[in-house]
Amino acid sequence: MNHLLSSVTHPFFAKTLLEWYPRHRRDLPWRHTRDPYAIWLSEVILQQTRVKQGLPYYFTFINSYPTVQHLAAAPEDEVLRHWQGLGYYSRARNMHHTAQQVVREYDSQFPTSYAGLLQLRGVGQYTAAAIASFAFNEQVAVLDGNVFRVLARVFGLTQDIAAPANRKVFQQLADTLIPADQPAEFNQAIMEFGAIQCTPLKPDCLFCPLQSHCYAFQHGMVSELPVKSKAKAARTRFFHYLVLRHADTIYMRKRGPKDIWEGLYDFHLQETESGELAAVALVAAVEAVGGQLDLQQVEEPVQAMRHVLSHQKVEAKFHVVWLQEPLPASSLQSTGLAAFSSSEIEELPKPILIANYISNSIK
Ligand code: SF4
Repeated sequence: MNHLLSSVTHPFFAKTLLEWYPRHRRDLPWRHTRDPYAIWLSEVILQQTRVKQGLPYYFTFINSYPTVQHLAAAPEDEVLRHWQGLGYYSRARNMHHTAQQVVREYDSQFPTSYAGLLQLRGVGQYTAAAIASFAFNEQVAVLDGNVFRVLARVFGLTQDIAAPANRKVFQQLADTLIPADQPAEFNQAIMEFGAIQCTPLKPDCLFCPLQSHCYAFQHGMVSELPVKSKAKAARTRFFHYLVLRHADTIYMRKRGPKDIWEGLYDFHLQETESGELAAVALVAAVEAVGGQLDLQQVEEPVQAMRHVLSHQKVEAKFHVVWLQEPLPASSLQSTGLAAFSSSEIEELPKPILIANYISNSIK
């Protein structure tokens, strides 16, 4: 469906947004800089969370690592620890690697064009467009969830925005709308408009400057646009954590690749097909890591927690096991477990599920 010429003229769209933007924009720290590093940091964080929740993370990163060289030189554990709570830890690792790539291959200078920025690890079309326009004023349109929504509604685009093949329809339209003389302001304006005026559930159509030209409003389709097919249902995984303790020692291990939470620390894990772990299986699991257990040593009750990720749900139970002896070195080697004091585990990067358990339950 194409209502582009019947609903609104292109110059009107940009002009309206550029008038609306200075009167409504939020004052955000990354809007006061043209430093591509700071802009890149803010964009990576904002892909994970909303502005309000992202602000403290932005300040943590920019204060801890004021330049790309600082970030590149930081230990990965520390970067992941600062990222803790944002989820999708692969993004933090990619961000760290990208910083190292910029230092190593680009003499610590970010590429200054959209095409050049796309060569960086973990930098996709959206982030490249954001940096190229905000830092270098390149005329390249950003497409994020806010932009998809505004374009779908104002121009009556009914293509499914969850289908990657439809991206080009929106990109072509956005590229015709972005003015050559104010690309940065236009990109900021359309994203901000989607974030605070044309919001997903309660857009402020009554006081909207695009109302008389908005296809969705004029045709009673605001709640139907954009069209977005549902993601597949998340699968449920059942995690049984053995919280192995001896005196002041707590055993944790760093998670490996090819699963969620790579590089973060958790406890010894038994994954099962259901939410239960039989007593005999618990005994066997402790013996398998070289510990001795009689069931009197297991604290009751075990604690159950549910943690929802975008593509899987984790239901976790924590079985605290007090060991009579420290784990032998051979089992530390085979399991990847390492001994920490309770103050040391505070500093480790951890999935938020584990961090919450520790803060509630480990004294
Ligand atoms: S009229 Fe409503 S749906 Fe249309 S652009 Fe404005 S806020 Fe969005």
